[in-house]
Amino acid sequence: MQFCDLNRQYVAYQSEIDAAIQGVINTASFINGKEIGLLEEDLAQYAGVKHALAVSSGTSALLLALLAYGVGPGDEVICPAYSFIATASMVSFLKATPVFVDVSPLDFNIDVSKIEEAITSQTKGIIGVSLFGQCADYDGLNALASKYGLWVIEDGAQSFGATNNGRKSCSCTEMATTSFFPAKPLGCYGDGGAVFTNDDRLADLVKMYRGHGQSARYYHDKIGINGRMDTIQAAILRVKLKYFDEEIKNRQAASEWYSVRLHGLAMLPIVAENKKNTWAQFTIALDNRDEVKKYLADKGIPTAIHYPLPLPRQKAFADLPSYEKSFEVSELLSQTVLSLPMHGLITEEEVDIVCKAITEALNQ
Ligand SMILES: *Cc1c(COP(=O)(O)O)cnc(C)c1O
Repeated sequence: MQFCDLNRQYVAYQSEIDAAIQGVINTASFINGKEIGLLEEDLAQYAGVKHALAVSSGTSALLLALLAYGVGPGDEVICPAYSFIATASMVSFLKATPVFVDVSPLDFNIDVSKIEEAITSQTKGIIGVSLFGQCADYDGLNALASKYGLWVIEDGAQSFGATNNGRKSCSCTEMATTSFFPAKPLGCYGDGGAVFTNDDRLADLVKMYRGHGQSARYYHDKIGINGRMDTIQAAILRVKLKYFDEEIKNRQAASEWYSVRLHGLAMLPIVAENKKNTWAQFTIALDNRDEVKKYLADKGIPTAIHYPLPLPRQKAFADLPSYEKSFEVSELLSQTVLSLPMHGLITEEEVDIVCKAITEALNQ
């Protein structure tokens, strides 16, 4: 069994994907080929925003969004204490300070009720992460942001395709980012990502920073990066986007299969009434997580720990004032979470095998 079976997905759409890749090779437009613009139109339409900008990864999407907001030394950006490193490391990369706030035990997303006490005169914005595929409380975050004159970025690396009060992930905040890393809900065949915004000025800034700060060919107004997506990745994503909603439906069905079978055995993910989760991960919490993980591994069932350390306890942040501070919920999650096999083409039989093994492990 595979944790995320990308090969099964390739085989399912093989002829179309092969043709899309060959099409790019035939034109040799490897950079800025026509598929980039077409993908950007598709993504903007899918997410329901004016501008979608294809970029080289979810990490560069975050960096470009922060650059567009002019984040730099002395600035503080509020981030959840529990996420993948890129959410906060790009803030530090720009010599600004990530200020961590603990997450909610209900949805593992930033706890909006704990943000106000973290706001200072240096605070510029908030990055909300839609962890494991469920949107954070963007209505709450946007309301706080307008009260204090801050911006909000949705890090939607795990939630593309999710909905929040009927709005798509990546359309709930002024700027949003996603990742097309192969194992994300919508993955390409290498690295890729996107930035989303309705704001023309911010979109122009992201484009400029993505292309070495160029205003005209070889005229550079800003210090930027090479943040472009390859044309081949765009062509692959355009094929996979056609099947994406079906895959999300299968992930949602799989989450039901898991929930029914694991009811009462483990702490299960809770999805709010007004939200639809894309199930980037199906992550449960167990007191004896490490033993269960080992039992499953011995049976050939792969699992993952997202994440073994709260962000403020990463060595990379050792020079921050928040290092060694305790973030209770994040600490508890890091010791108990276990992500189970999940992907767009997982079957009920596979879920059954995983759940039987978990039941055995717990009855030992
Ligand atoms: C994967 C991920 C990223 C980074 O995306 P890459 O495409 O791997 O650079 C950022 N934030 C979160 C929450 C992620 O899960």
